[in-house]
Amino acid sequence: MSRPASVVINLAALESNFQRVRQLAPRQKIMAVVKADAYGHGIGRIARRLAQADAFGVACLEEARQLRDAGIRQPIVLLEGPFSADELPAIQQLDLEIVIHHPQQFPMLAAAGRDHALRTWLKIDTGMHRLGFPPAEVAAAREQLLGYAAVSRDIRLMTHLASANEPGDALTTRQLQTFADCTAGMVAERSIANSAAILDWPDSHGDWVRPGLLLYGVSPNVQRPSLDEGLQPVMTFASQLISVKRLHKGDTVGYGATWTCPEDMPVGIIAAGYGDGYPRHARSGTPILVNGQRAAMIGVASMDMLAVDLRNAPTAQVGDPVVLWGDGLPVEEIADCAGTIPYELLCGDRKRTRFHEQ
Ligand code: PLP
Repeated sequence: MSRPASVVINLAALESNFQRVRQLAPRQKIMAVVKADAYGHGIGRIARRLAQADAFGVACLEEARQLRDAGIRQPIVLLEGPFSADELPAIQQLDLEIVIHHPQQFPMLAAAGRDHALRTWLKIDTGMHRLGFPPAEVAAAREQLLGYAAVSRDIRLMTHLASANEPGDALTTRQLQTFADCTAGMVAERSIANSAAILDWPDSHGDWVRPGLLLYGVSPNVQRPSLDEGLQPVMTFASQLISVKRLHKGDTVGYGATWTCPEDMPVGIIAAGYGDGYPRHARSGTPILVNGQRAAMIGVASMDMLAVDLRNAPTAQVGDPVVLWGDGLPVEEIADCAGTIPYELLCGDRKRTRFHEQ
């Protein structure tokens, strides 16, 4: 028998979350962000189910190729590239859209084949200070791009927000103003909003919104739970109890003996650990659902196993189902208990975990 740790992908929930984004941004086109294997959900299965998406956003050529191999015909935007001139023939052949964020990318455009003008997005650094042209250089960069035969005439404009998950945030307000100022008068489609901005910053919606996290049913803001936002988790990380035993007051549990039983009590062992993508830094007390009841992880996660305090689920037996996050247990909550963000947990390495579609 294979390991019971598994990931269930609920594609009906994905569709419902997509409709929720539609409601929040009814007049915008939707670029579904499916980089990093669709945040760990499986890029092909996710993109195929998002038939209504107007485009897909990926991080690199390899991800775009996976989408085309999966039969995806919608536009695909290479959100951070191209990275090198070698990639341009494939980018043209796969009919991808490119993002130009730095003058170092100009020479490769100058040298690119002329028979296929690439739809191009110009990325502006309005304050995140990661990728993008400074506001003062935007007009000149756009002129320069229009001079290349390999670039289509309808250059689009985009930026990315650093802290839109903080409602009323001053940096976001400045970024939106900077974007408006440095693109004023340019006839072009515009895109600013990630998930947090779709929820909280309607002025940022522009012509295209770029949701990632919302599509997967997760809230970008831990103070605003996903259920309250009308979202449903797409990924459920599940496993089973493989051992149940009664320990005595004073017994310690797991590596480092970091947890001590305060009384005689039942303790369960779950077949899942950091080798399956569970966070090593989840603290004792991180919630786990055992037979649908909330119980608490105890000790530290090991590679293949977790220990759970079964005082809240005293009838639990070997073979009973366990949810580590997803249906009934938001991944945001687990991320918070592990000192990380839900994005990192969703993208975790699950090479040996079985995936099921629902
Ligand atoms: N746009 C860009 C350029 C991104 O890099 C990302 C993800 O990091 C997104 C949109 C989607 O962000 P989120 O998952 O927060 O919606």
